[in-house]
Amino acid sequence: MIFENTLEFAKHLDLQDPLHKYQDEFIFPKVQGKKVIYFTGNSLGLQPKRTKAYVDEVMNDWANLAVEGHFYSEKPWWDYHERFADPLSKIVGALPSEVTVMNTLTVNLHLLMVSFYQPTQTRYKIICEEKAFPSDQYMFQSQVDFHSQNLGIQLEDAIVEIKRRDGEHNIRLEDVLAKIEEVGDELALVLIGGVNYYTGQVFDMKTITAAGHKVGAYVGWDLAHAAGNIKLELHDWNADFAAWCSYKYMNSGPGNASGCFIHKKHHNNAALPRFAGWWGHNKERRFKMEQTFDPIQGADGWQISNLSILSLAPYLASVDMFDEIGMDALIQKRDAITSYLEFILHEIDKEVDSSFEIITPSNPTERASQLSVLLHGEGRSLFDYLMQNGVITDWREPNVIRLAPVPLYTSFEDIYQFGQILKAGIQS
Ligand SMILES: *Cc1c(COP(=O)(O)O)cnc(C)c1O
Repeated sequence: MIFENTLEFAKHLDLQDPLHKYQDEFIFPKVQGKKVIYFTGNSLGLQPKRTKAYVDEVMNDWANLAVEGHFYSEKPWWDYHERFADPLSKIVGALPSEVTVMNTLTVNLHLLMVSFYQPTQTRYKIICEEKAFPSDQYMFQSQVDFHSQNLGIQLEDAIVEIKRRDGEHNIRLEDVLAKIEEVGDELALVLIGGVNYYTGQVFDMKTITAAGHKVGAYVGWDLAHAAGNIKLELHDWNADFAAWCSYKYMNSGPGNASGCFIHKKHHNNAALPRFAGWWGHNKERRFKMEQTFDPIQGADGWQISNLSILSLAPYLASVDMFDEIGMDALIQKRDAITSYLEFILHEIDKEVDSSFEIITPSNPTERASQLSVLLHGEGRSLFDYLMQNGVITDWREPNVIRLAPVPLYTSFEDIYQFGQILKAGIQS
């Protein structure tokens, strides 16, 4: 499509956009009385208006039914999580039995590593991406530490990072595959962020998963920036496991519950260790208080505790909205709006002295909704100017802004207006 940097053109795109109406389903903070242009949905998604009703329902059931709410509320709490199986499995490309919701992301990745990182003296290495999200780095280090005393393995040796080449911003697929092959028999686990949080690069999860399996390793994915953002086919890609948070693209509220995927092929594998709790126990017999753990066949068998229904309620509001729209429509809009943002950045770049470098891959199959932009010759004051003028972005020192237009609530007009504010900010 030939884009134009005009208000009329942006409005015309909004008119043709079947998802445009969803913007009105979200609550926007205001700056100077005007709703903000929100580009940080990759950090914390906006609140959907419908969410409050889902939470109120739980509050009311608790008030009116107290303990009886476990079984007799409109959405009983004892199996509340089962309402996620269908819509959530569609979002991540899984079978309904392969997904569950519980805990928070890093906690779930630790629990999944209990099952899928069982190092031996000869096979103990973990492959991850260079500059992985800090929480993931701490997790890898502490997992290796946890096993190191028994095995005599060393941190430096066990964690193998895939590096960017000099002068490049993104990791090449060929380098990932070469590293997997090189580590070979010593490789226990590949665990990478499916979408890199800093650059927005999307990894070829299907190819990497197959390569990891070929050398006998497990392959898992941190999907914090991928769930609700990209097309996932976790079952068909044959991923062993994955986990994601629900507060970024999935708009379910600060620090809210995580989702997990565990491939069907592992559901009946009694040899796979796991940390158990009563919520993962055979559902029909959970309240019989038996002594022997009999796990639910499926991802639900990895649950540990009584679930936090007050945090699942906003998550359910979110998956219901995604289910209404479908990932295909969402992705179509995402690609259009990201391309429009890319176009506007290039247009503004031509009109001002500074120069922008988009470090996110330009190939649409390697990126999703986020563009990370290096602003040569600009600093923190530009970020402050944007904030004061109602554009919420994410700033990374020394001069990168991350912009995530979210197909559910960013309009083409927002993108046009952002361009005008950016230009004024650079010229001011
Ligand atoms: C946001 C994010 C996290 C956050 O983990 P929490 O346990 O939810 O705090 C972890 N990993 C990645 C890659 C992230 O982007």
